Amino acid sequence: MTFSIHGLAVARGIAIGRAVLVASSRVDVAHYFIEASQVGAEIDRVRVGRNAVVDEIHRLQKTITLMGPKEAPHELTALLDVHLMLLQDDELISGVKHWITERHYNAEWALTTQFEVIARQFDEMEDEYLRERKADLEQITEKVLRAMKGTGSAIATPKSTRGTRKPSQQDLLLDDTVDVPLVLVAHDLSPADMLQFKQSVFAGFITDVGGKTSHTAIVARSMDIPAVVGARLSSQLVRQDDWVIIDGDAGVVIVDPSPIILAEYGFKQRQVELERGRLSRLRHTPAVTMDGQKIELLANIEMPEDAAGAVKAGAVGVGLFRSEFLFMGRQGKLPDEEEQYQAYSRAIEGMHGMPVTIRTVDIGADKPLDKSPERAYRDDAHLNPALGLRAIRWSLADPEMFLTQLRAILRAAKNGQVNLLIPMLAHGSEIRQTLSLLDHARAELDNRGVAYGPLQLGAMIEIPAAALTLKLFLKYFDFLSIGTNDLIQYTLAIDRADESVAHLYDPLHPAVLRLVAETIAECNAQGKGISVCGEMAGDTTLTRLLLGLGLRSFSMHPAQILAVKQEVLRADTGKLKAWAQEVMLDDEPGLRMARA
Ligand code: PEP
Ligand code: MG
Repeated sequence: MTFSIHGLAVARGIAIGRAVLVASSRVDVAHYFIEASQVGAEIDRVRVGRNAVVDEIHRLQKTITLMGPKEAPHELTALLDVHLMLLQDDELISGVKHWITERHYNAEWALTTQFEVIARQFDEMEDEYLRERKADLEQITEKVLRAMKGTGSAIATPKSTRGTRKPSQQDLLLDDTVDVPLVLVAHDLSPADMLQFKQSVFAGFITDVGGKTSHTAIVARSMDIPAVVGARLSSQLVRQDDWVIIDGDAGVVIVDPSPIILAEYGFKQRQVELERGRLSRLRHTPAVTMDGQKIELLANIEMPEDAAGAVKAGAVGVGLFRSEFLFMGRQGKLPDEEEQYQAYSRAIEGMHGMPVTIRTVDIGADKPLDKSPERAYRDDAHLNPALGLRAIRWSLADPEMFLTQLRAILRAAKNGQVNLLIPMLAHGSEIRQTLSLLDHARAELDNRGVAYGPLQLGAMIEIPAAALTLKLFLKYFDFLSIGTNDLIQYTLAIDRADESVAHLYDPLHPAVLRLVAETIAECNAQGKGISVCGEMAGDTTLTRLLLGLGLRSFSMHPAQILAVKQEVLRADTGKLKAWAQEVMLDDEPGLRMARA
């Protein structure tokens, strides 16, 4: 039966495919397609892994028997019996074989997929004892996964072309099983998880939780595939393998669509592709307004490899390299100076001489270092993580780590034009500490006799306190970059990652607009560089307003550059200036913009 789930639109376009449900705890399991010739070997890998666990249980059972009935805890004996029974369960075994044979999933993916299918059945059981057996199933799945570690097939293909082909409607109606796109459905995905999926087989994402500018949503947007977050209960309502449509423009997920709905969305999908094709012709067109104002369109990137996409999209530089993605999901083993130097240099090289703005780590809040509960930086370890030890505060609390990063960036600056950007500053003392550590990093390199390059120094304006004390910032910095995602969050006291307050997250709130407008105006008046690198910069409905407020530098995901360029080409900043002032001073700019 067709039904729809409403969430938040975060990444545009339409995806049509089969649902792959992934438990949040299992996203680190490899997902790739195998070749038809590997099917037998992949089934063997699961069998060998399962047999290893069965043998281990048999050994334990023997030890228990030797202990004698008095010492052997009855619960343990019963538990081992249950585990053996589950391991030999027909549904588990035949299900895993099905995913490998019919869908060509790799062994780990097939196992976790079948786990999800059976776990759902356990959830629906009336009997509490049986319901609780889900935990046992989870344990044995975990054990088999562990036993399979290191046995991955050497010729595995992590990125298959399969799954990226658009199915024809005929395919969908014929229920073609192997060669169709897949969409990932999860309760939640951390930004690091998302990064892992960047090179993956999925054509779209759906999560139960998350706000429009949560970092998970931001990474989804950078992948340029349709995504809906905050689609509550989707991971419970959608079943493994269901057909789903993701309408990334409307923020709607349609489950089990009827042929008529499929036809309609197939049509929409083609329209989106046509529009993309049209926009791609603007790639080499300079971003100049009708009245001759040159506009700088820069890219936001998460990894050095994203530079290629930025160049392809026509970016004239990187306005925000979120360096924290180099630090995440590494079980606390942070990248050393050399590794960071190599990564920054790769990004610089990838930009072919265009400027690269590297932001120092912004760990914390919805970007934990990793998911392990013992880490102090886990997002839920503090009551208000967004107000806690985050970004520059985290860096200043660990000077050795910060110095390592600063040295790596200074060294990389020898290879190209590098700007250093500091996140989340609010206090003069933080600015002075940061600059003194930068001097210290230079002195350390001097002592080691290591060469480094010059840096332009920038601060992010993300906290209202910073926007209200611009004079202080302009005394120390060459340029400012407005992080509107956080500026909105902190001005309006709205957690950007919380879908339950997403409707109040308003870039057009007059307080937000005033802070943005005054920051742009003050920098322009003092001849300092000013850019916006938050999501507002890539929102085409706001391009004219920002141009009217005097902004000439926008930094956004590469996927948004051409659409923003189209707006720039149609704009006349002379005419927009007076209008933007009126909007800014309106009591309800949102209503005024909607009427315009
Ligand atoms: C912002 O806050 O607008 C920003 C660009 O930084 P991030 O989204 O990484 O917090
Ligand atoms: Mg920010």
